[in-house]
Amino acid sequence: MRYKKIDKTGDELSILGYGCMRYPRKNGMVDFKETKKQIRMAIDNGVNYFDTAYMYPQSEEILGKILLDGYRERVKIATKVQISKINSREDINKIFQKQLTRLQTDYIDYYLLHDIDIENWEKFREMNLLSFIKDEQNKGRIKNFGFSFHGNINNFKKILDDYDWDMILIQYNYIDENYQVGKEGLEYAASKGVGIVIMEPLRGGLLINKLSNESKKLIESFSIKRSPAEWALRWLWNDEKVDVVVSGMSTQEDIVENTAIASEMKPNSLNENELELINKLKNSFKDNIAVDCTGCGYCLPCQYGVDIPLSFSFLNDKVLFGGVRFPVFYLLKTMENKSYASACVKCGACEKKCPQNILIMKELDNAKYSLEKWYYKVIYKIFKLING
Ligand code: SF4
Ligand code: SF4
Repeated sequence: MRYKKIDKTGDELSILGYGCMRYPRKNGMVDFKETKKQIRMAIDNGVNYFDTAYMYPQSEEILGKILLDGYRERVKIATKVQISKINSREDINKIFQKQLTRLQTDYIDYYLLHDIDIENWEKFREMNLLSFIKDEQNKGRIKNFGFSFHGNINNFKKILDDYDWDMILIQYNYIDENYQVGKEGLEYAASKGVGIVIMEPLRGGLLINKLSNESKKLIESFSIKRSPAEWALRWLWNDEKVDVVVSGMSTQEDIVENTAIASEMKPNSLNENELELINKLKNSFKDNIAVDCTGCGYCLPCQYGVDIPLSFSFLNDKVLFGGVRFPVFYLLKTMENKSYASACVKCGACEKKCPQNILIMKELDNAKYSLEKWYYKVIYKIFKLING
C-alpha cells in the first residue's frame, strides 16, 4: 500500500480509503460476517482510512463493531454530520455523542460536515457551532475538521476561503473533470494545503457496470489488460494532488484488486496512450449514458413509493444494451409495490436532494416511456405466469 502524508494533519493515509456507504448484503440485510471479513482484510492489506456518515443506515454501528479487537487503533475514521439535522448546540452534541457510541470510540479522526452548501454553512456559523467543533478539538475528541461537497466551483471556493479546513471530500473521476468542483476545485483545494479525499471514483459503479459496448471494446483491445475499475482508479492516482480515493468495495476480489493497484501506482505514471484511452472512454460514456445517477439514494424515500435509482439504472441498461429483458425485469421488480416511474406525481421533493442535480421528474418520464410500454407489460404477465 502506498501512503501519503497529509501536510495539514500530519497523518500518513493509505491512498485507498474504504467507503462504508454500502456494505455487502445477503437476503436484503447487511451481511455482517462477510463485511467484517472484508473490512479486516482491507486493514490487513494496508487500508487505514474509513469513510462513514451519520446518515448511512447502520454504517457507523457496524464499523464500530468490526473495529474492535485492536483494529480501531490501526485506522483513521472519517464520519459526517448533516447540518439539516442540527438546530442548536444541543442537537450537534447529541448526534456527536451518538456517533462516538455507535463507532465505539472516544474520538473521530476526521469530522466532516456532510454535503454542505453556502446556505447551510452560513447557518452553521450563525448558530456558533464552530465553537462546538473547537471545544471538541481541544478535548481531543475531534482530531480534524472538514466537509464534503457536491455543489458548484464558486461556492466551493467561497467555503474553502471561509475557514481553515483540514480536509475536504469531493466527487471526482474521469467523467467529472469539469463537473461539480472538478479539476479546478481539486487544484484550488491543493493550493490551500488541505487533505483531498475523493468520493465516487467509479461514479457509483457506472464506470464499471454501464460501459457501452464501444468502451468495452476499447478496453479489451488495449495493449495492457486492465479492468474498467483499474483504469478509473489509475486515472485518479495519476494526479499527485489526490491524497485518498475512497472506494466502496463490496467483494473480497475488489479489495484484492484495489489494494494491489494502490500498492504500485505512482503519480504521473500513465503514458500518452493510456491517457488517450481514458479520454476515449470518457467521450464514449458521455455519448451513451441516459442518466448520470450514482444510485446514492439521497433522493429517497419518495412518499409516493417511486424507486428512483432503480428506474434510472434500468433506463441506462435499456438505452445501453437494448432488448426486452430490461423492461421486463424492471416491471418484475416494481409492479408489486408500484415503485415504477409512472407512480411519480411530480411533487418535486426529490430533486432538491440530488447531489448530481439530475432533473429527476423529466428523467422519470423518459424511464416511463422507455420501460413501461404496453407490450412490455404483456411480456411481463406471460413471464410471471410461467415463473409463478
Ligand atoms: S417528484 Fe416524483 S419521484 Fe420525486 S418525490 Fe415527488 S413523486 Fe416521488
Ligand atoms: S437521482 Fe440523484 S439522489 Fe437519487 S440516487 Fe440518483 S444520483 Fe442519488
